[in-house]
Amino acid sequence: MPLSGLDIFRLLPKTNCKDCGFPTCLAFAMQLAAGKVELEKCPYVSEQAKEALAEASQPPILKVEIGQGNYAFKIGEETVMFRHDRTFVNPNAFAIAIDDNTDASKIEEIISKVNNLKYDRVGQVLEVNAICLKNTSGDKNTFMAAADKIASLTEKPLIFISSDTDTLITVAQQYKSRKPLIHAIDMSNIDMMMKVIKETGCSVVVKGKTFDEISTLSEKLRNEGIRNIVIDTGDRNFKNDFFNQVILRRAAINKKDRLLGYPTIVFPGEMTDDPLKETLIASIFVAKYASIIVLSNINPQNLFPLLVYRQNIYTDPRKPMAVEQKIYEINNPDSNSPVLITTNFSLTYFIISGEVENCKVPSWLMVMDVEGQSVLTAWAAGKFIPEMIAKFINKSGIADKVNRKEIIIPGYVAQLQGELEDELGGQWKIIVGPREAGEVPKFLKNYIA
Ligand code: SF4
Repeated sequence: MPLSGLDIFRLLPKTNCKDCGFPTCLAFAMQLAAGKVELEKCPYVSEQAKEALAEASQPPILKVEIGQGNYAFKIGEETVMFRHDRTFVNPNAFAIAIDDNTDASKIEEIISKVNNLKYDRVGQVLEVNAICLKNTSGDKNTFMAAADKIASLTEKPLIFISSDTDTLITVAQQYKSRKPLIHAIDMSNIDMMMKVIKETGCSVVVKGKTFDEISTLSEKLRNEGIRNIVIDTGDRNFKNDFFNQVILRRAAINKKDRLLGYPTIVFPGEMTDDPLKETLIASIFVAKYASIIVLSNINPQNLFPLLVYRQNIYTDPRKPMAVEQKIYEINNPDSNSPVLITTNFSLTYFIISGEVENCKVPSWLMVMDVEGQSVLTAWAAGKFIPEMIAKFINKSGIADKVNRKEIIIPGYVAQLQGELEDELGGQWKIIVGPREAGEVPKFLKNYIA
C-alpha cells in the first residue's frame, strides 16, 4: 500500500523552509502522496527517508519502457484522470498487428509501410511505434519464422502474442536484447513465465478475466521484483473494455491501488471488422486511457487522424507549443532576400514557413520568443509590441545579413508600423504583410518583382 500524506510528513525534515515551493512540509507531503510532485523537490530528505519514500513517490501508474534504441518508447507515469487537471505524460503507442501466417511478401510490404510512415507536424514526427506479431497459426515454427523476418526488417519495438507458453518463452529468450513486450502471463502460466521474464528483463502483459485476477497476477510479479507490467483485461468488446479502462485508471489514481497501477493494452482491431469503426474506437482509447493501442491495418486515412489526435491529447495544455527564437533561413536567402517577422507559436511558425518554402522565394524568417503565443495574443498580452520587437531586431544580427532594410510584419498588427519604425530609429522600413498565411506566397512574389 502506498504511504498516506501523514506517513510521508513524518519522514520529512518538518522545517517548513518552503524550498520545495510549498508553504509547509505537510502541504508538500499531501501533494507527494497524491503523485502530483516529485520527491526531488525537497533537497533536505535524508537517505533513509528517501528509501522509505521511494514507493510513495512513484507515479500511481508505473512507467514501462518497451524496445531498444531510437524507437524505444515509454508508457505509464500518468498522475491525473483528466488532461485539464495537469497533463497526460507519456503518449500512447500505436502498434500494427501482423498474423504469423501472413505471406512473407505481405509482411515485407507492411513493415516497409510502418518504417516509412512519418508525418512532420508542428515540429514533431508522428509515426507508428511498434509491430505486434500474433501467433494466429498456433504453430511455434511459423511464429518464430515470422518473428525472425520482422525483426530483421525493422528496429521498431516488438510485441509478441501467443497462447502457447513454450512459444512465449522461446521468443522472449531469443529477442531479449530488443526488450519486447511479451503477451501474456495469465493464471495458467504464471509460474513458468515469471522466471523467464525475470531472466530476460522483457516487459510482460498480465491478462486476467477479472480485476481480482489481474491484481493477483501483478502482486505475484511485484513480489518477484517485476514491475515492467502492462495490463490486458482480455475483453474484446468495446463497451466493456472502455469501462475497464476507466475503472483501472480510477483504481490507480483515485484509490492508489498499486496492483492495478500499470499501463494498459487494447485491441480495437479485434472489436470490429469495420476499419472506420476501428479508428473511432481507437480514438476513444487515446483519450481514455489505453497505453498501447493495437491496430489491424496501416491505412494512412485511418492512422493519420489518430496520430494527430494523440498529439493534441498529449500536448501539455499549460504550455503553448513553441519553436526556438532565431532567424530561420528559408530557400537559401541572400542579402537581397525579404525579411519577415512573426512569433514563436509553433503553429504560426510552421504555417508561415511552409507557405514561404512552397512559394520558393528565398527569405529570412525572424521568429521572436513570446512564450509560444500567436501574433494577436502576444500583441494583446504586451509581448509583441514595438519596443520589444525593436530590441529583438537590433540584437538578432539581421542588419548584417541584408542590404534592403525592410521588415515585413503580419497584417494583423499593421497598427505597429509607425511606432516600430520610430523604435528602430528610422533605420528600417516596416512593410505590412498579409493577414492570412495563405496570402504570403502571392505577397512575396510581388514584393521581389
Ligand atoms: S523543502 Fe523539504 S523541508 Fe522545506 S518545506 Fe519543503 S518539504 Fe519541508
